[in-house]
Amino acid sequence: MMTYKMTEELARVLTEDLLDECWHETIVSDFASMKVECKHCHISIYSTKWRHKKFTTPSDQKAVMRKLVDKGLWDEFERWCFAVWLKDTESGLLSEYFSWLFLEEERFCVLAAQFMEERRKESELSFSI
Ligand SMILES: [Zn+2]
Repeated sequence: MMTYKMTEELARVLTEDLLDECWHETIVSDFASMKVECKHCHISIYSTKWRHKKFTTPSDQKAVMRKLVDKGLWDEFERWCFAVWLKDTESGLLSEYFSWLFLEEERFCVLAAQFMEERRKESELSFSI
């Protein structure tokens, strides 16, 4: 079985490409007052909104599922996961597919991030033809 580990790179893909949220990056905008903010959306580093989702919790998984559904990507994602599972599984028992897909928040989110990356690569390819 493959291991599914959430990385900062994958978390950024989910944040920007799926959730359409800012992946905050710091910039010192005023050296005199040492004002530090996000160089993209300009919120203060001290804002309570300054948080990178880790995509390892049930609420993060729910947010990812919600966006996949809202963006009309759910069917394609689920078929893609099924193909991954077929390749990855040792038992091949269909009854184990849904627990494999849903019962580990981190694995679910890693799959969603890899799915988004593949979609982006495919669209870049079709642009270059
Ligand atoms: Zn930001």
